[in-house]
Order: sequence, then C-alpha cells, then structure tokens
Amino acid sequence: MLRWLQDYPRFLEVAYDLTQRLLRPFRRWLKPGGAVERLFVGAEQAGKGAVFNCQMCGQCVLHSTGMTCPMNCPKNLRNGPCGGVRADGRCEVKPEMRCVWVQAWERSQHMPAYGHELLNVLPPVNRRLQGTAAWINDFTGAAQQNPAGWIDIRDIQTI
Ligand code: SF4
Repeated sequence: MLRWLQDYPRFLEVAYDLTQRLLRPFRRWLKPGGAVERLFVGAEQAGKGAVFNCQMCGQCVLHSTGMTCPMNCPKNLRNGPCGGVRADGRCEVKPEMRCVWVQAWERSQHMPAYGHELLNVLPPVNRRLQGTAAWINDFTGAAQQNPAGWIDIRDIQTI
C-alpha cells in the first residue's frame, strides 16, 4: 500500500522525531493494558502496517534499522543479514524479495540523524511484547528492558 514511503527514509526519520515530540507531553497517559493501548495498537497496525509491513513486535527499532522492519526478515534477524544473502542482494529463503538488511543498509545511508544506529548491536527481540503498542513500550521503558538472563551489549563492552 504505502510501502513506497520506505524509500524516503529522511522523511520518515523526521516523522519519527516529530511523533516522539508530539507524544512526549502525554506520556503519563501512555500506559499498557487499557483503552489507550488498544487505540495505539490499532493505529500502529494500520499506519506502520501499511508503510513497513509491521509485524507488531512491540519493540520498534525502525529508526535503528534504516526505517526497514527487521521482522520482515524470514529469520527475524535483528542484527544484520545472515550468511545466506545472495550476491544480487536477494533473500536466500524468499528469493523473490530483497534482503531486508540490504535495504536497511541502503536506506540508513540517507538518514543523517539515525543512520549511524544501524551499527549498534540490538538485543534479541522480546517475544513477550508481541502484539502490544511499541510507542507505549517505548515511553514506559518496557522496550528497553532486557528480561533477566539477557546480557546487554553495553555491559559486555565495560567488562
Ligand atoms: S520493528 Fe516491530 S514494531 Fe517496528 S515496524 Fe517492525 S514489527 Fe513493527
């Protein structure tokens, strides 16, 4: 539907920043488990679904992945392509599609504000947030909390 918008990553990162700024004053109402979350889930399914084919992981990392949803990778990889990406940039599992991470790299080159974040190592996706509102998880901090037993890459670097 609106997938073509992904090829305007500069516009999308500006839209991301703007949305975050607009929502910040209302953060005290952005809580999980109520009508507000249901509203956000519906809005994210419709909006991000149309543009990014959002899979509702609840832990959105679009601005760190070239405005390309990593959950569209058939292997759900959150940190770059697997070893099977084809020489022409296509997916080894679904040869009819371009590798999500090839697209993420290309788009990140046109993102002056967040493009560098593509090099950050992301934690594994927290499946317990599946189906919840990513914006709310972002504001409550749930999206940044790693479940017990997971090691944050920033902790590894300081050891
Ligand atoms: S990273 Fe998660 S929340 Fe963001 S677009 Fe992809 S599936 Fe949706």
